Amino acid sequence: MTKTETADLQATMDQIRCVAAAGADIVRVAVPRERDVEALKTIVRESPVPVIADIHFNYTLALKALDAGAHCVRINPGNIGGPDKVAQVTARATELGTPLRVGVNSGSLPAHLRQLEFDNPVEALVTAAVETVELMERLDFHDFKVSMKSTSVPNTIAANRQLAERIPYPLHLGITEAGTKWSGSLKSAVGLGTLLADGIGDTIRISLSTFHAEEEVKVAWEILKALKLRDRGPVLIACPTCGRLQFDMDSVVAEVERRLEAYEDPIEVSILGCAVNGIGEARHADFGITGAKDMGMIYSRGEPLKKVPTERLVDELFAEIDRYYAAGKTVVRDEAQAAEARQWLSENEDADALTPERMAALEAAAAKAEAEAAPLRLDEELSPTAGRRFTRA
Ligand code: SF4
Repeated sequence: MTKTETADLQATMDQIRCVAAAGADIVRVAVPRERDVEALKTIVRESPVPVIADIHFNYTLALKALDAGAHCVRINPGNIGGPDKVAQVTARATELGTPLRVGVNSGSLPAHLRQLEFDNPVEALVTAAVETVELMERLDFHDFKVSMKSTSVPNTIAANRQLAERIPYPLHLGITEAGTKWSGSLKSAVGLGTLLADGIGDTIRISLSTFHAEEEVKVAWEILKALKLRDRGPVLIACPTCGRLQFDMDSVVAEVERRLEAYEDPIEVSILGCAVNGIGEARHADFGITGAKDMGMIYSRGEPLKKVPTERLVDELFAEIDRYYAAGKTVVRDEAQAAEARQWLSENEDADALTPERMAALEAAAAKAEAEAAPLRLDEELSPTAGRRFTRA
């Protein structure tokens, strides 16, 4: 959602282009005044992505936003002035073939649900959303999506899970007023990530307290990429570091992340803080670096490419990535350099070091062995419905 005054055409269009470049598929603009509707006509024409007009309280603005050509209009039927006003909006939307987004927010539930909101906020949210859906169906309007937002992550998750079971319409997800870039991103990742992993949600918005709307888009993409729901741009993997680290990995990771923004392909780039594990878990990465005090190494898909001085690691990494694209997405290997890098790796690997990665692997193996050695559970063995004779806990 843009954060500019919508009537400030220059600022609003700049921000829309910025969020579109960051990967937004749709953008919402606030339309609280007549002059915003005027600006909306131009915005709709010039925007590189569909524009949703965000309307509260004033149904005439909703009608005007529809006439201005908005690709979708968001209304909250609870505050637009009653069912007859909603009916006028749905009638105009039907004539124009424009979809609506209808929704409820935990902060603005209808008066008859206030006590329920106090007693059971999840049920109150779901009831308000279902009542909204029933109103739209009574008005014979079906081209809408529903949003149901709360500042509470558990309530948002529980309410959307229930609503997804009860209505057949698309759902828009968000944690409202999530907070700062740091805490808001985490709350959104937990709330939206949980729902998306359940297969719930059709559009998402991250709400952060920042003027830079593109930051919200970047967080949205990280959530989608983490769940492997969508691909966009490179994936950066970095070890958490530990006492074996011998170079300034914070700066290297930040620099690699910044330079990767220029690439659109979903290549995977890995950064390891040391070579004692070998290439280990970064074996699948398209490109990676591992550093040490003076020297480091660049590798690709589990194979060393070249040894380079630590201060040149980042530049050489990007030189290899650019060479890969120039060769039509083929990794270009110089066998002499690769042999030198292999030699360096063998000198720096330490098969006996108890690294965080190896401890995690040992713990996983121990847990697996323990599960396999667990005693037979008599209740399951004797259960007539177990369907098998021997089971393990
Ligand atoms: S042992 Fe693992 S976590 Fe520690 S610096 Fe090396 S790669 Fe990073």
